[in-house]
Amino acid sequence: MRHLIIRFLTTALIAVICLVGVGVGALAATLRIQGGEWRLPEPHEVKALVYSEVEPEPARTVFLQREAMTVRFGPDDAANGVSSLVASGTTHTIPRYRGTNKTWKRLVACVEDKFAGLDVRFTDVAPTGNDHVVVKVGGKQRDIGKKGKAIGGLAPFNGKPLNNVIVFAFDQGGRYRTRTNCETIAHEVGHIYGLDHTYHCRDIMSYLQGCGKKTFVERTLACGEHEMRECVASRPGQNSAAHLLEVLGPAHEEH
Ligand SMILES: [Zn+2]
Repeated sequence: MRHLIIRFLTTALIAVICLVGVGVGALAATLRIQGGEWRLPEPHEVKALVYSEVEPEPARTVFLQREAMTVRFGPDDAANGVSSLVASGTTHTIPRYRGTNKTWKRLVACVEDKFAGLDVRFTDVAPTGNDHVVVKVGGKQRDIGKKGKAIGGLAPFNGKPLNNVIVFAFDQGGRYRTRTNCETIAHEVGHIYGLDHTYHCRDIMSYLQGCGKKTFVERTLACGEHEMRECVASRPGQNSAAHLLEVLGPAHEEH
């Protein structure tokens, strides 16, 4: 038992906070490329982020929240607007997504396309209950009390599927292109199905930029951010597309 707990805590320490600088490549001509970073969480974050060892059913519904949203710090509970990623002890209101109706529709369609063929549904109509993940789209990390360089998004991550959690996909006040927002959302949602970062530019889970549109690549890849490293839970590489299919299963055919 002790061993189990220690191993679990170690996983949490290694992988619990994921700060992503994904998608800035699209703006590389005008912005310095700003990568994400991994860091050890503060003790209070570990407390908030050590999830149950019982693996939840993966969320089949992902709510893309366009409107402003108030989120307070605490153990993740999307249904009640609580997130472990918000600055400790604070409550914040993240502003509305800055794009137009047209760009929003394009964004939702783009995200759906990234997960095509999988048993998951994206909606921009607020679901009831707690069996879903919320992606708050819009704002910047300062809006949840985080300082530092511009980052694409944030998601809780422990290498296993998570449910009833809030994921953030920032639009930096409208500076990001739709494709960048789309790839950020797909990346962050990938984390809540247990996907690690890969070291392969074309994969959505990679920080590497400058090789065109990203997809969930169906090939076993090395993990890493700016250099290769071992994958979470000592997995021998990661096939992002195959992992999602294993976790979510194939889409049901609609008649
Ligand atoms: Zn990430």
